[in-house]
Amino acid sequence: MSYEKSEIAFKEAYAVIPGGVDSPVRAFSSVGGTPPFIAKGEGGHLIDIDGNRYIDFVQSWGPLILGHADKDVEQAVIDAVKNGLSFGAPTLTETKLATHIVEMFDSIEKVRFVSSGTEAVMSAIRLARGYTKRDDFIKFTGCYHGHADSLLVQAGSGMATFGSPSSPGVPADLTKHTLLATYNDIDSVKKCFQESQNGVSSIIIEPIAGNMGLVPADEPFLQELRELCDQYGALLIFDEVMSGFRASLTGAQGITSVRPDIVTLGKVIGAGMPVGAFGASAKIMNQLSPDGPIYQAGTLSGNPIAMSAGLASLEKLKATPEIYATLEKRAKRLMEGFKSASDKVNIPMVTEVRGSMFGFFFSDKVVKNFDDALANDTELFGKFHGKMLEKGVYLACSSFETGFISVATSDGMIEEAIISAEASLREIVG
Ligand SMILES: *Cc1c(COP(=O)(O)O)cnc(C)c1O
Repeated sequence: MSYEKSEIAFKEAYAVIPGGVDSPVRAFSSVGGTPPFIAKGEGGHLIDIDGNRYIDFVQSWGPLILGHADKDVEQAVIDAVKNGLSFGAPTLTETKLATHIVEMFDSIEKVRFVSSGTEAVMSAIRLARGYTKRDDFIKFTGCYHGHADSLLVQAGSGMATFGSPSSPGVPADLTKHTLLATYNDIDSVKKCFQESQNGVSSIIIEPIAGNMGLVPADEPFLQELRELCDQYGALLIFDEVMSGFRASLTGAQGITSVRPDIVTLGKVIGAGMPVGAFGASAKIMNQLSPDGPIYQAGTLSGNPIAMSAGLASLEKLKATPEIYATLEKRAKRLMEGFKSASDKVNIPMVTEVRGSMFGFFFSDKVVKNFDDALANDTELFGKFHGKMLEKGVYLACSSFETGFISVATSDGMIEEAIISAEASLREIVG
């Protein structure tokens, strides 16, 4: 496989864009090599500018559950574009998309749209602080909630990959209200509540963590978080920017009985367009401006093109909920295949699947939290990633990411990826 054009493109990009990329994980820093520059996507495949074709298990980091260039989403976008790109005024599409979300999520009576997951979480934290009139909040090491200042503390994937626990440019004054707990460890959460000086406004959690690899929360752990929040009058925030419409049609709600106070959404909700959303009970959401005192705004929020893409995608998913069983079956088959390939060459591997999300670690330890995740063999992963890419399998370029199956990822593609995995591992062990 030749990457000649991508290598030139990367040099050119590097000269004018920091690291050559607009989001750090795209640069392949942790696995080595040049990131292929993408010319187009076709269903379950990516095609780069050198004409190489890959089975795509990244899918724009989650949004493309229907695959690339889905015909219905494409048509909805084209229809919307013809009427103008943005108005900064209400449109019917926003209400339609909001109505679907309110119908689907038990804990959402009202929802507001923003333009990214980062913005959704940032706004949810402000809402929780404003509602409870308390400043502190609890987050878990290894959970990523976007790159807003107060959330950029021990935040998994990109940051784990780059080994920086936090980031220069984030004042300590802004992170002193961020209390850190350990995923799946309730005592660490109790300790945060006891040590908080200012009172805890909220706990924010990825109920199915996808940014330290795929690490689901235990059911009793989520139940205890709910009880602690009720006991202390704090709000429970489920960050479902990744797991929403991915782990199941309704995200974590399809898997756990625990209900949060606030939910954040993103990725799939925009089908590849920049969209985020946060929702809660009417009582909480009515605290937002203009009805309430908590300010939150956005010039392009609820953008009509993005809303149309999201609506077309969501209506298709809602009309065919049975596809989730198929996606999960394929994800499980892929992980079984990877696992048996690694067994054959005596390399330890642990795997996890939730709906259309999959994860694997080169590790002999079941991963329950970020420390466990850090014990995986990242060097081996780097080699595996490179070998798979050469064989036309595009995996996320970090061992702390989650993989995704789309409706367009066929059984044949899964089998092809398994054969490539076995061949790659055999080449690695020599
Ligand atoms: C991706 C992600 C975000 C950030 O969303 P952006 O659209 O990248 O700003 C926040 N939370 C979780 C759980 C995510 O996976």
